[in-house]
Amino acid sequence: MATPLHAYFQGKIVPYAEAKIGILTHGLNYGTAVFGGLRAYWNPEQEELYLFRPLDHYERFLNSAKLLHMDLSHTPQSLTQITIDLIRQDNYRQDIYIRPIAYKADEVIGVRLHDLRDELAIVAIPFERYLKNDTNAHVTFSSWRRIDDNAVPARGKISGAYINSAFIKSDAVNAGFDEALVLTQEGHVSEASAMNVFMLKDGVLVTPPITDNILEGITRKAVIELAQSELNLTVHERSIDRTEIYLCDELFLTGSAAQIVCVTHVDHRPIGAGSMGPVTAAMRDLFEKVLRGRLPKYRHWNTPVYLNTTVVHQN
Ligand code: PMP
Repeated sequence: MATPLHAYFQGKIVPYAEAKIGILTHGLNYGTAVFGGLRAYWNPEQEELYLFRPLDHYERFLNSAKLLHMDLSHTPQSLTQITIDLIRQDNYRQDIYIRPIAYKADEVIGVRLHDLRDELAIVAIPFERYLKNDTNAHVTFSSWRRIDDNAVPARGKISGAYINSAFIKSDAVNAGFDEALVLTQEGHVSEASAMNVFMLKDGVLVTPPITDNILEGITRKAVIELAQSELNLTVHERSIDRTEIYLCDELFLTGSAAQIVCVTHVDHRPIGAGSMGPVTAAMRDLFEKVLRGRLPKYRHWNTPVYLNTTVVHQN
């Protein structure tokens, strides 16, 4: 992976090599940090880099920070503006990934959330594909369970919570799969290690509700809207049983890093015909156009980095 050139760190843009923290930093030791993951997509015809729904990402980021009693004194707009300034500094003309992180910055011993200083950092790096196999993914059900809202809230993108995702991902990969789905304590399908899940059954698109310990994905939100408006599909947000997944017609995963991943096998069982189905293919196609600012109807989801002067994105 490429090294970022610059970072926003302690209130200004600095060379990445200067953005350093001490090893006693609270966020590193106790996981008391929250982060985001945004993408910007290069459109060569328009010579423009489009940030995808940055205000939604930063709203979620600030909500995650709120869960950890952080006050960052920022708005989604101000964070988007910093992101634009940072990307412009390096003049990226390719797809990139942006990682904002807010962390408890004191270098002290003692686990808590209160009486600690909060710091914000943002980095941007060139980024192409997250999952190698995004057209034919083989997935398993993890033996781990998803973290529960009453222990570690999944709706916050909390650094420490990602050890749950890391267990899920590594055990799946070590067992020869591309990804894993994880169940809630009650046994309902929650999501993948860092992606939301959608299944198609009898022409209806179904995805777990936000109360099944999912991260409320920005991609998920966009896919629900596109499925209804562009593909005329009914979308249900409801709990899903494990064996419904084995018997569904199509299955895909969604996330900012990987966009839309087609799953063709779960626990060695073929999904539908065992190859990409028409709805998944149509959604992947549509989403790629939307991300690159090629569909005027959804241009309000794209914030241009280079033409932009003020941030005007609306949901
Ligand atoms: N679930 C988890 C646990 C994630 O980390 C992510 C990635 N942010 C997602 C779902 C997908 O969310 P989004 O579409 O906003 O990237």
